Amino acid sequence: MSTSWLCRQLSQYALKLLILGAVLQPAYALPTTAFDSALLKPRYTPQGTFIIPGKCTGNNLDAVQNALLDASYLAGAGIVAAQTFTELPFRYFFKGDLPTANTVAGVLDRVQQHFLGNGPLIGITCEDVYNNCVTGATNTFAYAAQTPGGTNPPLIVMCPIGLQLARNPPACSTTKPGSLSLGWLMLHELTHIHSISGTLNIGDTTGESARDVQDHLDDGGDTTLDANAYAYLGSWSWDEGLSPAIKVTSCLVNFKTGNFDLTGLQAVDLAVVASNPGWPAGILPPGGSQVRY
Ligand SMILES: [Zn+2]
Repeated sequence: MSTSWLCRQLSQYALKLLILGAVLQPAYALPTTAFDSALLKPRYTPQGTFIIPGKCTGNNLDAVQNALLDASYLAGAGIVAAQTFTELPFRYFFKGDLPTANTVAGVLDRVQQHFLGNGPLIGITCEDVYNNCVTGATNTFAYAAQTPGGTNPPLIVMCPIGLQLARNPPACSTTKPGSLSLGWLMLHELTHIHSISGTLNIGDTTGESARDVQDHLDDGGDTTLDANAYAYLGSWSWDEGLSPAIKVTSCLVNFKTGNFDLTGLQAVDLAVVASNPGWPAGILPPGGSQVRY
C-alpha cells in the first residue's frame, strides 16, 4: 500500500497549495501590507473519515489506514450483494426485499463516500479517549463516541486488540468466509455513526457471530439496526468475490463452510458512547460550521 489514500489526499492538497501560491504571488508584486499569518493555516477542512494526526503511529497507523481502505472494499462488496437481495449472502443477514436492500446499500454507499472524503467529519484515533478499551475483564476491539444530534464530530477509537486483527484475504481466496478483520471492525464502527446510518440508529443488537445475526433475523428482528449485520454482509460478500472490481462469483459455494459461529470473542465494542464532550485538547479542531450532523 505505498500509495495509500492518505498519501493521495496529502499530495492532492500539496498540489492545490502550489496552484494557490502561483496565483497569489505574481513575481512583480511586493507585499504592501503586513503578512497575513492566516495564509499559513491549512486551507482544507477535514471531511469524511479522518485519522487524527499523531494519535496512531507506526504499525497502528498502518492498521488504521488498512482498516479504512478495507472497510470501503467490504462496503462495495456488500452493495453488490444487495443487488441480488433475494439470494445469499444478502438474505442471510437481512430481509430479502427491495426496501431493505436499498436501505443497506445506502448505508454502505455512505461508508464509501466518507472514505473518499465526502461527508461530515468522522475522527479516527488510536488513543483511548474515553477509557473504554479495557473495562474489567472485557477487552474491546473498538468503539464509537458521538453525541446524538450534537455538533461535535464523532470519534471512532481503535483499541489495541482491534488493531491486531488481520486484513481480509484477497477476494474469493478463502473457503471459510466471514472472519473478523480490520475492515470488518471498521465497517462495524462506521455504521454506528449518524452521518453514515442516516435515519437509522444502528446499534449492537446481536452477539458477535454471523449465526447470531441470522437468528435475530429469523426471530423477526430488524437487522438493519445491527452493526454486525452490515459488517458480516460486507466481509462475507468480499470473501465470496463480490467485489465490484473483481466480479468473481464462482466462490459463492463457500458460503456454507463459512465462520458462522466465531467464539471466544469479548464484546466487539461497548454500545455507542452517549456523551461526547468534544475532541480532546490538542488535536485538530473540527471544521466549524462546515461540519453538520
Ligand atoms: Zn458496535
